Amino acid sequence: MKSELEIFKEYIRGQGLRQTPERENILQEITTFTGHFDVDELYLRLRRQGIKISKASIYRTLPLLLDCGLIREVDFTDGHWHYESIYGQPHHCHLRCLKCGAIVEFEDPLLICVEQKLAWRFGYLVKTHTLEVQGVCPQCQERLETGDDGGD
Ligand SMILES: [Zn+2]
Ligand SMILES: [Zn+2]
Repeated sequence: MKSELEIFKEYIRGQGLRQTPERENILQEITTFTGHFDVDELYLRLRRQGIKISKASIYRTLPLLLDCGLIREVDFTDGHWHYESIYGQPHHCHLRCLKCGAIVEFEDPLLICVEQKLAWRFGYLVKTHTLEVQGVCPQCQERLETGDDGGD
């Protein structure tokens, strides 16, 4: 399997773009980190490591990483995009708590059956799916029961 860096370099070359240290720093940080992030979080993590970078270059680099399939966008409906790296990782879906925003990642073979059913029914060549199930996590349910909603 090719490394993320190899894929990214090939993509950059194919697009006639320049490979910059900023882009490599961003890629490096994204691939060593597991979990979801947004632009601000990524920016802070890079700055904390003493890496000088502008938010603008993060904004410019993310579409490239999306386009070459190394990351995907996740919409937690809080007004801005979140991202996660997906390269070489099994597909997963999200459970999101509407109270505290906690995210649970899960996989379920039933969803593959649904994909196959839809492919057959609509004649689609199915590539992927995204699913977010929203609800209230166990901790928040407890808080609701005890009447302490955390001032939310
Ligand atoms: Zn919660
Ligand atoms: Zn995820």
